[in-house]
Amino acid sequence: MRKQIAAANWKMNLTVDKAEVLLEEIVNVNITLKENQLAVFAVPFPYLQLAEQKLSTQNFYAAAQNCYSKKSGAYTGEVSAEMLQSLNIKYVVLGHSERREYFDESNQLLAEKLNIALEYNIMPIFCCGEPLSIRDAQIQNEFVAKQLQESLFHFSADDMQKIVIAYEPIWAIGTGKTASSLQAQEMHAYIRKVLADKFGKTVAGNISILYGGSVKASNAKEIFNQPDVDGGLVGGASLIASEFITIINSLK
Ligand code: PEP
Repeated sequence: MRKQIAAANWKMNLTVDKAEVLLEEIVNVNITLKENQLAVFAVPFPYLQLAEQKLSTQNFYAAAQNCYSKKSGAYTGEVSAEMLQSLNIKYVVLGHSERREYFDESNQLLAEKLNIALEYNIMPIFCCGEPLSIRDAQIQNEFVAKQLQESLFHFSADDMQKIVIAYEPIWAIGTGKTASSLQAQEMHAYIRKVLADKFGKTVAGNISILYGGSVKASNAKEIFNQPDVDGGLVGGASLIASEFITIINSLK
């Protein structure tokens, strides 16, 4: 049974005091997750250790929002997968559209980052998704397929199952404009088909595909209930304890 995941992406928000309060508010509710359900918190680098300690509850994990493509060395300001591993971090978000847009991260660079994350046993949450111009031109499938091909198709079927995909239509991120559950399901089914054609149906069936883009407490259940949607990557609403608690409780 594939994993159902509620992943928080805090982006560059919160001071350490507020981060601690938010984590405590969520953990103190004592949400009981089923064996195949996870809650993952992609926090800013300086809060990773704090989050790792606070989230010692079963099936709650701290995650990084990025890591570099090189092992170590003279790369001032970067953070390596090995450093994350040494902090017991099990998940890393890679290829978020904000990284692609503001930091010029290409599909090729992301292939390298994915390689190194797997080398250090960190499960990547690999983001893909199209901008509005591509959706308007109705070529979103081709656009997303290219992202998958260029960053993921060099993996073995075995390694591919160690990667989570997050489909995030860029026009829905932070805009309050959510893809309809039908639009999400259509793209998720398409992504699964692209993966099935390359890696086989069984492998594709084991891969969690999260939806991201203005998920909130009020729409999470409908979106997560779609057959090919395995939870969400959540920005804004993950900064409000009550919202994110409801989102976690909306996992199927
Ligand atoms: C995100 O940052 O990945 C995201 C989906 O943001 P939001 O939920 O705010 O749209």
